[in-house]
Amino acid sequence: MSHPVLFVIDDDAGVVRALRDDLIRRFGEDFRVIGTSSAAAGLATLRELADEHVTVAVLIADHKMREMPGVDFLARAHDMHPRAKRVLLVERDYSVHSPVIQAMMLGQADYHISKPWMLEQDLYRGVGEFLAAWAKDQDADFELFHVIGRLHGRSTNELRELLTRFNVPFHFDSADSAEGRRLLERKGLHASRLPVMIRHDDYTMVDPTPAQIIEAVGGSTRNDVDECDVVIVGAGPAGLTAAVYAASEGLQTVVLEETVSGGQAGSSPMIRNYPGFPHGISGHELTRRACEQAWIFGAHLVFSQPAVGLDLRGDERLVLQADGHQIAARAVIVAPGIAWRRLGVPRLEALVGSGVFYGAAASETQAMEGRDVFVVGAGNSAGQTALHLARRARQVTMVVRGDSLARSMSDYLIREIEATPNLAVYLHTEVVDGHGTDHLDAITLHNRLHNRTEQVPAAALFVLIGGEPRTQWLPDVAQVDCGYILTGRDVVRDGVHPSRWPLDRAPFPLETSIPGVFAAGDARYRSIKRVASAVGDGATAVRLVHEYLAAMTQTKVR
Ligand SMILES: Cc1cc2nc3c(=O)[nH]c(=O)nc-3n(C[C@H](O)[C@H](O)[C@H](O)COP(=O)(O)OP(=O)(O)OC[C@H]3O[C@@H](n4cnc5c(N)ncnc54)[C@H](O)[C@@H]3O)c2cc1C
Repeated sequence: MSHPVLFVIDDDAGVVRALRDDLIRRFGEDFRVIGTSSAAAGLATLRELADEHVTVAVLIADHKMREMPGVDFLARAHDMHPRAKRVLLVERDYSVHSPVIQAMMLGQADYHISKPWMLEQDLYRGVGEFLAAWAKDQDADFELFHVIGRLHGRSTNELRELLTRFNVPFHFDSADSAEGRRLLERKGLHASRLPVMIRHDDYTMVDPTPAQIIEAVGGSTRNDVDECDVVIVGAGPAGLTAAVYAASEGLQTVVLEETVSGGQAGSSPMIRNYPGFPHGISGHELTRRACEQAWIFGAHLVFSQPAVGLDLRGDERLVLQADGHQIAARAVIVAPGIAWRRLGVPRLEALVGSGVFYGAAASETQAMEGRDVFVVGAGNSAGQTALHLARRARQVTMVVRGDSLARSMSDYLIREIEATPNLAVYLHTEVVDGHGTDHLDAITLHNRLHNRTEQVPAAALFVLIGGEPRTQWLPDVAQVDCGYILTGRDVVRDGVHPSRWPLDRAPFPLETSIPGVFAAGDARYRSIKRVASAVGDGATAVRLVHEYLAAMTQTKVR
């Protein structure tokens, strides 16, 4: 098999030669580096490569070529090699006039390289990053698991989502395929109990529970700690950040997570506004790193183990786990985020996991290749999901109840949506019904403006219409607006409920109506609903836990 290609084009043959030589020196063992200074010849070469099924990993094009602007070249090259990462080569110009800004905003490039480049800091680090992102989209050459299941089965989808969230490489075979049948037969198993997971060491699980899967990939689902300094509930950005800070600052820390780490952010295909990642970072990658960081600092991470209750015993806060275990903590940080609001259409609810998905369902993107899919919602999360799907799907349609996206979506996303040819937006429209027996086949749309109803074929429907806080298990903590947790001044605000707060001192800023219990992230009343603000809350909550514990110690000394 021929090596994947790194492709370089610039009018200036000297630049092409220099870039080509530099790339060969570092990446030449594993990649073929092709360079040209003619757009027509470059496109012809790329066409030949596509016809010969040679993979192009990275396309690097100078932005101001005479024959054709770099973004246009990248667009045409990308049509032939849709999985290649697009890199714009530009002069160093950190003003607002740099072509990089518009190209990134409109989704015409994934990255940029500035000329002249420094070898280690710019070129090799950058191209290494592009290649890592490219490799993630490829079929893995190492699989930890073989999964055999029904292509559209709900449990198969749940399993795939879990493995994707846990960053576990796997290969999927439909139980109807020759390979699927062969594997089942080899194991003496029957297709009546699916999915089946076969680990690389042949350890096999039939219709496994989430906890069994997590244990099989090395995660913990049981907590053996009875007492600790702080329990953190939820391993989204807020909870993970709290875990990093608490564990690194010497607090014995237990994190309880209902599913796997990442939270909503973990399902976000590309977070563009998190500081420090100018080309964006997948939410999954960001939260995976935070999770590993918390673990390395010594936090106990317990997955598939929701907190189901909170009690008080003197100064101790007792957190009850779903398995009946109870942890006594000196303080608690609650960061359970929000759950997606449901559409409430019975026939669609019956197909959840079988073509209907709440949230971005990162694991499903590959399966959408060449299909017609719909995204319901008008917020940033819906916009990002639609853009991500448009890279694979034949046509993506956003279904929006209101009269514009501008009310709820960031400007950069709106511009990118407008510039994406296979992405349409239906305004004034609602999804009112779904069709399909085992899997979604079609949906019914209702245009409220023209009072028109039509049924359209749909391979999948992704619903991202906002959410409600996951705080029902905390009945004694003061909440407003369907469960958002009151903290700090809001707990004692205007003396509306003075009985909520039992102490003489005022609550600390993120403290809830129960002293020593803090709230962080999206579930907190007046939260900003951004990754960075959840991260900020998580870090702040730990600082406040220290203050709370110090105040407790002083009270005891007195
Ligand atoms: C598709 C998508 C794209 C987004 N894109 C962006 C973006 O580009 N930029 C940006 O800034 N923001 C973005 N957001 C918003 C951002 O992800 C959220 O604001 C952020 O994740 C909130 O973090 P959190 O930790 O408060 O809650 P969550 O991320 O919701 O995490 C909460 C965690 O708590 C767990 N949990 C809940 N209840 C319990 C319980 N009882 N016991 C144990 N665990 C529990 C949940 O399983 C979950 O893992 C996006 C959101 C989505 C869905």
